[in-house]
Amino acid sequence: MAEQTFNLQIMTPMGAFYQKPAQRIIVTTTEGEMGILPGHEPTTAILNIGAIDMLGDQGETKTAVVTGGFIVVSEDEGVRIFADTAEWPEDIDIARAIAAKERAERRLQEKAADVNMARAEAALRRALIRIEVGQKSHK
Ligand code: ATP
Repeated sequence: MAEQTFNLQIMTPMGAFYQKPAQRIIVTTTEGEMGILPGHEPTTAILNIGAIDMLGDQGETKTAVVTGGFIVVSEDEGVRIFADTAEWPEDIDIARAIAAKERAERRLQEKAADVNMARAEAALRRALIRIEVGQKSHK
């Protein structure tokens, strides 16, 4: 019988974030959404700022927000995600994300010579996904 699950690990520079078998995950890569099932061919991809949707081995669903990084799918180690940052929806501080969004929007509007626009745009995208996913869980 084919394997029903694969080993999933999510790591950040702060340490191990999550490790558990999963039935399926969906990540947002620079090439678009990528769904991974057991037996996925070995590959690597660069992650965008976005959500990771997971279906755990008990059929439970989970979402985490990551702000970039990369994913490695290998035969031996399963699926490893190395993320810049990772948060569970319930741990997202929405007020902090709103403040970050307003700060980024102000910087983008000012277009001052000393503002790094790409950096402000990335900060805005981090804030927007945190607000979107955080608000769903705080309702
Ligand atoms: P801020 O300007 O509010 O620091 P940021 O997007 O620059 O936001 P990051 O550099 O992405 O922050 O993250 C720094 C650390 O703070 C990471 O550990 C991240 O998980 C955490 N973090 C950032 N924003 C939030 C938030 N709104 N709620 C919970 N944790 C957050």
